[in-house]
Amino acid sequence: MAKLHLITYGCQMNEYDSERVAGLLRERSWELTADEAEADLILVNTCAIREKAEDKVFSKLGELRLLKAQRPDLIIGVMGCMAQLHQGAIQRRAPVVDLVFGSPAIARVGELVDRVRRDRRSVLETGEGPLVKITARPSSAGRLKAFVTVMEGCEKHCTFCVVPRTRGRERSHSPATIVDEVERLAADGCREVTLLGQTVNAYGRDLTPATDLGELFALVNEVDGIARIRFTTSNPYNLTPKLIRAMRDVPKVCEYFHLPLQSGSNRVLERMNRGYTRERYLELVAEIRDAVPTMAFSTDLIVGFPGETEADFEQTLEMVERVGYDNVFVFRYSRRPGTPAAGMADQVSEDVKARRNTQLLETATRVGAERSRRLAGQTVEVLVDGTSKKSPGELAGRTRCNRVVNFDGQGSVSLGDLTPIRITEALPHSLRGTLASQPEEAACLSK
Ligand code: SF4
Repeated sequence: MAKLHLITYGCQMNEYDSERVAGLLRERSWELTADEAEADLILVNTCAIREKAEDKVFSKLGELRLLKAQRPDLIIGVMGCMAQLHQGAIQRRAPVVDLVFGSPAIARVGELVDRVRRDRRSVLETGEGPLVKITARPSSAGRLKAFVTVMEGCEKHCTFCVVPRTRGRERSHSPATIVDEVERLAADGCREVTLLGQTVNAYGRDLTPATDLGELFALVNEVDGIARIRFTTSNPYNLTPKLIRAMRDVPKVCEYFHLPLQSGSNRVLERMNRGYTRERYLELVAEIRDAVPTMAFSTDLIVGFPGETEADFEQTLEMVERVGYDNVFVFRYSRRPGTPAAGMADQVSEDVKARRNTQLLETATRVGAERSRRLAGQTVEVLVDGTSKKSPGELAGRTRCNRVVNFDGQGSVSLGDLTPIRITEALPHSLRGTLASQPEEAACLSK
């Protein structure tokens, strides 16, 4: 069997795409290997969201050049967002690359690899393609959690973002194909699905008849074996009262909501073309907490967007305190070629970005720790999904609000179980607990 090694950079969409590629190639007798030195095909799945991510890819391709010098038959491919964005420029800068293909061509990966092997010349495939639901995966048997793409693309045009160029316009998969995929995962032992889309809460509006994410939740909720539903990433602009009601009413939807804010300053939000204000965002948070008091929030924030002043940044810090996020992902603004923000005159220096990054992380860590401490003494529902990293004799799992809990299973709990755990200690990055004698309602606290 020929051997495939996959290197994945970037977001969950990319991880999911890599899984799909591995599954498709498996159907053509390619076997996954963790060792790049023994691979016949190395595929690098790339991210173009920040310059640093691109630098990493080129540096990796530089390393692979040495491997290819020893083994000229080795095929090296680049897929994902960089492939779509830079196309032929990748092979010009890294001639070691034999194959470049974007997300729309994933369904044809087997055929593309065959073409490279047969013709012994490089292949570039970055055009638009039909929307194909690929359900192939490397081997999902026994896997407790899985990503399920429900839509591709984004039409928001935030001024800092390359995604609309790399992933194309919004296209939703039909509810029937999604439910079919979830049913297969459940039959293989999957307990939790994360519904994925760049703007997942815009799901379904391009379908005929139109539908929405709330209706999809209800369908996935009916799949036996699936215990939990998560979803990411949402845009505040597309958040509707109907979706908030669905988050409240569909039992398997977890109380964890990733809602990117990006900046706490209206001036910056406008320059980012985000389509909402800080006041609107706070209103949404209040509406959600009114409907689901136990909801935990996470967010993405950018520091050093062009023109961001100290006063703008202070407003972002203030939003972190006001919302009370459980988790915050902080990014330094990175100038992406071809985006409107890259051409803005008032770029912020790297020193200032670094300082704001540190300050924001400190605030976010403190706020997140406060939220975590509130769980001490509560009994929460945990989906057991592995063993503790520090004490392999102990089990680990996640709360519905997505916090890691380590506990002693006392031989009575197995992987995949939902079990009530009494939280005894809130540590900076995890919780400790003990098996609760009585099942009580999961209780992730809200402010
Ligand atoms: S909504 Fe997200 S993916 Fe779409 S353009 Fe904005 S940041 Fe990019």
